[in-house]
Amino acid sequence: MAAEPDTKAPPDTEVLIVGAGPAGLTSSYLLTKAGRKVIVIERDPTYVGGISRTVNYKDFLFDIGGHRFFSKSREVVDLWNEILPDDFIDRPRLSRIFYGGKFYAYPLRAFEALKNLGVFTSTLCMASYGWAKLFPVRPVKTFHQWVRNQFGEKLFSIFFRTYTEKVWGMSCDDISADWAAQRIKGLSLLNAVVDGVKRSLGLHRKPSAALGEQGGVKSLIESFRYPRKGPGMMWEAAAAKTKAQGGEILMDHGLEALTWDAKAEVWTVTVRTVTGETKTITARSVISSAPITELTKAIEPRPASFANAQALRYRDFITVALIAKSEATFPDNWVYIHDPSVKVGRVQNFLSWSPEMAPPGYACLGLEYFCFEGDGLWTSPDAELIELAKREIGKIGLINPADVVDAAVVRQPKAYPVYDDAYQANVDAVAGELEGAYPTLYLVGRNGMHKYNNQDHAMMTAMLTVENILAGERRFDVWRVNEDAEYGEAGLSGAEEALKSERLVPKRVAA
Ligand SMILES: Cc1cc2nc3c(=O)[nH]c(=O)nc-3n(C[C@H](O)[C@H](O)[C@H](O)COP(=O)(O)OP(=O)(O)OC[C@H]3O[C@@H](n4cnc5c(N)ncnc54)[C@H](O)[C@@H]3O)c2cc1C
Repeated sequence: MAAEPDTKAPPDTEVLIVGAGPAGLTSSYLLTKAGRKVIVIERDPTYVGGISRTVNYKDFLFDIGGHRFFSKSREVVDLWNEILPDDFIDRPRLSRIFYGGKFYAYPLRAFEALKNLGVFTSTLCMASYGWAKLFPVRPVKTFHQWVRNQFGEKLFSIFFRTYTEKVWGMSCDDISADWAAQRIKGLSLLNAVVDGVKRSLGLHRKPSAALGEQGGVKSLIESFRYPRKGPGMMWEAAAAKTKAQGGEILMDHGLEALTWDAKAEVWTVTVRTVTGETKTITARSVISSAPITELTKAIEPRPASFANAQALRYRDFITVALIAKSEATFPDNWVYIHDPSVKVGRVQNFLSWSPEMAPPGYACLGLEYFCFEGDGLWTSPDAELIELAKREIGKIGLINPADVVDAAVVRQPKAYPVYDDAYQANVDAVAGELEGAYPTLYLVGRNGMHKYNNQDHAMMTAMLTVENILAGERRFDVWRVNEDAEYGEAGLSGAEEALKSERLVPKRVAA
């Protein structure tokens, strides 16, 4: 049993941070650098880095997905360089789409796409594009409508529908247009065709990788930075620096309960290990990168917006890493599998990310399956998933399944926060209530804020939260950092964008 906390004693720590992912470790690194006392609790017994960890299976390294390091935010890039000064490599990006038994360069090369599609289908694509431009759907509510207006119905059905439905496990008519506007931002058919013709003619200028994707439309970028042993290297370094600066990181410690003593202005946090041991830690402030569904289960008394929080949904993710006794695979970093005849959604080729990801003489591929926790794929025994992956890689023809000598399965719950029609109102209700009721509770990061983000957004929300804690007031509104840490607003840093808010604390009400 956990001991009763002594409310008169000074708290155990100034800041307790839930989660040792990019958001949590950015917070802990910066707070300890500023001389603050910090305890990080991380549920995972082994890995820091969260979804951005690098798994080590018998010296084969692989990511959950593949993690490019790019940001338009100078502050984020500077912080990456500060935490990991000597271990970044610049990687060329090469990725293709597999559809209808053929490979298409992605971003598309116009002449190759026309050749693969054939004259008839290409003509249909152009005609349906013209139709969509003449008669756009208004108002635009769904992913389907957004893409159809931008590219036409035919291209939507070839290059967007199957992959998107594999990723999200729902119809493109049920996915909000927000998602498309965010992820495919700045890309229109005209851009894609101009870009594709330039690529076909070899006239395309490579953007610099120095700032990641600066200067290019996000989906078309050609090179990126990557730690030579995967993204986990960044987060292991951040954890080591946190500890060297006096912070504590408690692995295998999950958040169990959270209570606020308004009089003493102290949080009492109960944590639990896998073996069921519990203990309590007291803290002045709590930064949470745990999923909103889980945070609200822990808070006592139960928040009024509990039902909103529990209505938030997630998409889950499985990587089947296939280890092949041959380095000769294919040049892509990853291949999108749009083909509906297989379940796999994407194939990562980790040697193309970094030559240090596998021992010499071997290749390591990550076959990615998008699923819901508890569904047929999720609950399949590992051996069945490995057989499925071998069958499907053979069907696609990327490697010979007979070369596979070993394999590992990693399940990632809550990999993607789902943007359904109600998510924004639900997040607003929870954030409004919690930040209004609890002056020293801070929500950060991907599932912590239910944002379909990249590491740079998670980090920027943590960086601004640290500023707020150090200032003793919420000077920055982290909810205004957009999912791409300022991709939308060329020239503005995430911090400036957040400061533009007239209200320092977002007043959010349920719609
Ligand atoms: C397939 C895929 C590909 C991606 N590719 C890229 C990419 O190329 N580039 C990029 O920049 N980003 C990419 N991302 C996004 C990136 O993974 C996230 O933006 C980032 O990891 C979010 O960091 P976070 O700290 O907010 O959350 P997380 O990474 O989810 O970390 C949260 C941490 O909190 C811990 N935790 C949760 N609940 C509790 C609890 N109750 N108690 C204790 N600990 C808890 C978790 O174990 C975890 O370690 C990708 C994501 C996916 C799914």
